Amino acid sequence: MSEIRYDRLHDSHVIIAPERLQRPDNTREETSVSLESECPFCDGNEAMTPKEIYAIRENDSLSNHPGWQTRVVPNLYKAVAIEVPHQHHNGAFEYWDGFGAHEVIIDTPVHYRSMTQWNHHDMLSWLRTLRERVDDLRRDHRITFISLFKNEGYDAGSTQSHCHTQLIGLPLVPKSQRDFYRRSREYMYNHNRSMMESIISDEEDAEIRMIDKRGDFNAFCPFASSYPFEVMIGSKKCVGQIDTVSDEHLDELASLLVSVMQKLSIQLNKFAFNLWVSTPPLGDESHLCDAHRLIVRIMPRLYRFGGFEINTDMMINPVEPELAAKLLRGDNHG
Ligand SMILES: [Zn+2]
Repeated sequence: MSEIRYDRLHDSHVIIAPERLQRPDNTREETSVSLESECPFCDGNEAMTPKEIYAIRENDSLSNHPGWQTRVVPNLYKAVAIEVPHQHHNGAFEYWDGFGAHEVIIDTPVHYRSMTQWNHHDMLSWLRTLRERVDDLRRDHRITFISLFKNEGYDAGSTQSHCHTQLIGLPLVPKSQRDFYRRSREYMYNHNRSMMESIISDEEDAEIRMIDKRGDFNAFCPFASSYPFEVMIGSKKCVGQIDTVSDEHLDELASLLVSVMQKLSIQLNKFAFNLWVSTPPLGDESHLCDAHRLIVRIMPRLYRFGGFEINTDMMINPVEPELAAKLLRGDNHG
């Protein structure tokens, strides 16, 4: 069984999950010819996964059978499990049995389909699936934070080459996220507008890091990008968390994401990346708080990092965000 342990020295938490060692790794170059007949995420192989939690299906197809667009199943090699909510104290040592939800969202029934190849329908189905799962897990009051993320490619930490997204719901808010949302609320209190609204307004004025926009949503390379070709998508108005987002806004976001992924793939060809969808803490109405905005962050993993980055939490990015944005916009001059 996994454990969530409190790191008193750094005021942070770590998940100790020996189960994760059992994961097969089929993304390494030498084994990447993994057969679709052996892939548990492929259309037709539904019996190879635990029973589905949710799916977007067409033509009334039966659950756990072919005919789906997206499919959500419990992670077989889970970092945390929903069944065990106990917290323990033992002197300086504080830990939880690894309580939480760990789900895999199978983004597409097609094996070799990178997010950079998705069309609007794929992207919208994916966003609707994320919205549905966060909405459902919000009702479990033991879960106070949900991490929604994608790893695509070996260099981004993926061990499964079939395109998928992960959701981990935790009984605590990780330190970095606690700090992020606290600063968001403080900014709102001091400036009477959200931090993301200020950043996007200033990026619009500066122009040089803007990439594209759809309706309320803007894509830009952040001024202090940690990763080369990092892209952030945010909205000046659209509050909070994915499960509060309207169909209209979801449609705009899908359209912008398709555009951004295509632009990244034009510049970087086949590239590994991490993607993160913001989720304010649950349970304290944070998702309705006007300080927070829906944010999607795309982090291409062109370089590996080492001791300095781990030691200092400071990334070294060799590509100026202004140059990245210019290339992504497709500017030929200036
Ligand atoms: Zn597959």
